[in-house]
Amino acid sequence: MSLADHLAARIQADGPMSVAAYMGECLLHPQYGYYTTRDPLGAQGDFTTAPEISQMFGELIGLVLAQCWLDQGAPAPFTLAELGPGRGTLMADLLRATRGVPGFHAAMQIKLIEASPKLRSTQANTLEAYAPEWLNSADALPDQPLLLVANEFYDALPIRQFIRSGGHWSERRIGLTDGRLAFGLSPAAPQPALDHRLPDTQEGDLVEICDAAAPVTQAIASRIAAHGGAALIVDYGDWRALGDTLQALRAHKPADPLQAPGEADLTAHVDFEVLATAAKTAGCAYTRLTPQGVFLERLGITDRARALAAPLQGEPLDSLIAAHRRLTHPDEMGNLFKVLGLYPSTAAPLPGLNP
Ligand code: SAH
Repeated sequence: MSLADHLAARIQADGPMSVAAYMGECLLHPQYGYYTTRDPLGAQGDFTTAPEISQMFGELIGLVLAQCWLDQGAPAPFTLAELGPGRGTLMADLLRATRGVPGFHAAMQIKLIEASPKLRSTQANTLEAYAPEWLNSADALPDQPLLLVANEFYDALPIRQFIRSGGHWSERRIGLTDGRLAFGLSPAAPQPALDHRLPDTQEGDLVEICDAAAPVTQAIASRIAAHGGAALIVDYGDWRALGDTLQALRAHKPADPLQAPGEADLTAHVDFEVLATAAKTAGCAYTRLTPQGVFLERLGITDRARALAAPLQGEPLDSLIAAHRRLTHPDEMGNLFKVLGLYPSTAAPLPGLNP
């Protein structure tokens, strides 16, 4: 049996499924899920991410979190957490960069929130020296100061899609047409969760909701509000989502999201307004949403690149220059990716981000 067979059987039994149910099955089905069965990152995989492009990304994030920790009086112990750590590369770079911060490593307790058993084992290898602990959900984070990073985590959370229709909303669903997966629409109905989108949308517009985003953010923000700390959330998306952003990537190329389920990465743009609102509800302050390129430049990525470049020439030098460009240039990841910081309302905002 393949995931496509399993999905067809489920649709035959229960009727068409939401885009969120489809995404959830494709990414995390225990037997056939995309993340459950493989390491999708890097040149051999389907997509690459900022920490896999250059060590500079994780290093600078490490310094931001360590500075927050120092600014808040170096609390001990504290949780150092990551949502969706992939191969553990960002965490490894962060830990190397913070080795020289007195007391930081002695006070940290590393918690990794990771759903994929396959990637957990890669992370265990990468981070062997640091004895991390894995958690199934942000709700299980300890009640103590929390420094957290999430890069390209929220974009993997399942979204539902709605099309505005006669003042109500039709949900996009996935059913079967001639035995093949196909998009369809449910009858229009009121959607209280989308009331705030009535003023800024028109008939026929498509709007996405990520049901899991607010609860995860609230779990983080409530700990930061109560005990101190900070969170850095990096992802592609914007303030308020509009339009169909469901995207499948296979071997670094866009693919049809309904083709070969479980074989391609599925993501959607992140609606940062939802995260900021959840943080505020939990009593936490949030920074201005900032383009990744601007954030990294403010933190001195160019100086770091120059230092790394000094002993290099030829291909290694070219690839360092390309990595710097890729992370920061507005035509590459610099503008598409955004950074949101969460911090206690009594503390200074995170370095590189404005209130
Ligand atoms: N942060 C890494 C990996 C990004 S890929 C990097 O930047 O390279 C998305 C990561 O989130 C993977 O580790 C994936 O297994 C994990 N993930 C996806 N959905 C998840 C969920 N619901 N709960 C926990 N982890 C999840």
